[in-house]
Amino acid sequence: MNRRQFIIFLAMVGLRSGTGTADVLAKNLIEDKNISKRTRIVDGQQRYKVPSIDSEVDACPVPPDIQAIIREKEKNKASRSSCLAPLLDRPVKVRAKEYQAKMRLFNKPHPEDLYVLPDQRPLFKSCLKRFNRIYRIVGHTNFYLLSMDDALKLARGYTRVGRFTTREIEYLESVFDQDAAAYGFYGKKLITNFTGRQDRSKVAKIRGTGNYLIKGSPVTLYKRLREDIGTRAILTSGVRGIVKQFHLFFRKVNANRGNLSLASRSIAPPGYSYHGIGDFDVGQVGLGGDNFTVRFIRSRVFKELLGLDYICLRYTEDNPYGVRFEPWHVMTRLSG
Ligand SMILES: [Zn+2]
Repeated sequence: MNRRQFIIFLAMVGLRSGTGTADVLAKNLIEDKNISKRTRIVDGQQRYKVPSIDSEVDACPVPPDIQAIIREKEKNKASRSSCLAPLLDRPVKVRAKEYQAKMRLFNKPHPEDLYVLPDQRPLFKSCLKRFNRIYRIVGHTNFYLLSMDDALKLARGYTRVGRFTTREIEYLESVFDQDAAAYGFYGKKLITNFTGRQDRSKVAKIRGTGNYLIKGSPVTLYKRLREDIGTRAILTSGVRGIVKQFHLFFRKVNANRGNLSLASRSIAPPGYSYHGIGDFDVGQVGLGGDNFTVRFIRSRVFKELLGLDYICLRYTEDNPYGVRFEPWHVMTRLSG
């Protein structure tokens, strides 16, 4: 089946179901053809190929001079109340030293880490493979907003994906229902509905990025920082639906011998990502994969971001979420 035939197929599925989802997907697939070459370079990813995940094995130390600047900036911001401290629904009850070591060595296994149970490994693998196949079919941009219902419907209708079995769906639901604190991830559950979807009328496609942002303060914040820094600053990841977050999380787990805790130190488990409610990532044009490593702090864009008093980082070095230092992840008021 070629691309054109697939679009016709999607339209037919939409007519049968009456939901219009496939129409929207088909429409966006056509729009997706217009993504510029520059976007592909910025993302460091080739469309319709599952992008490789970061190869950063060890935590790179943050140079003390940069650490001092960040600390000073955050302190000043807190005193001016321009940034609120992230609020958690539970206190972090972990030994501070151990907690910090896990965050610093985020890509190393830890004795207390939780893994995918042996009897669930086949289900985990088969779900991941289906997500990979759906990704290849719908493309990078469309995949960001896909809901679980969209994914299940596509899988049913497209033989190359194959329908999710009842056991697979139950497994995905059990992962979604898991309290992430068990992994060592202490953020709030932000999206509680397994079949929840991003409302397309409430998101804006950001030209030249292959990403979306929630309308309102996230779009305003992004435009403002681009006015101040210039076009070298670029959105590298915006709004994510549940399926996108499942895919990112599962790929990280899979690349690390089924280690769920290790994955959660870099990628929020599904339902817990602030990308679902407004946060976004900013990088520098041309830096590619380095935009998602600590090497980003050496970039001009990061240094200029630090100079903007209205920008707050969600995952600072000593963040209470149990997440690695992410100098590229911008907190928005909407989600703060
Ligand atoms: Zn992020």
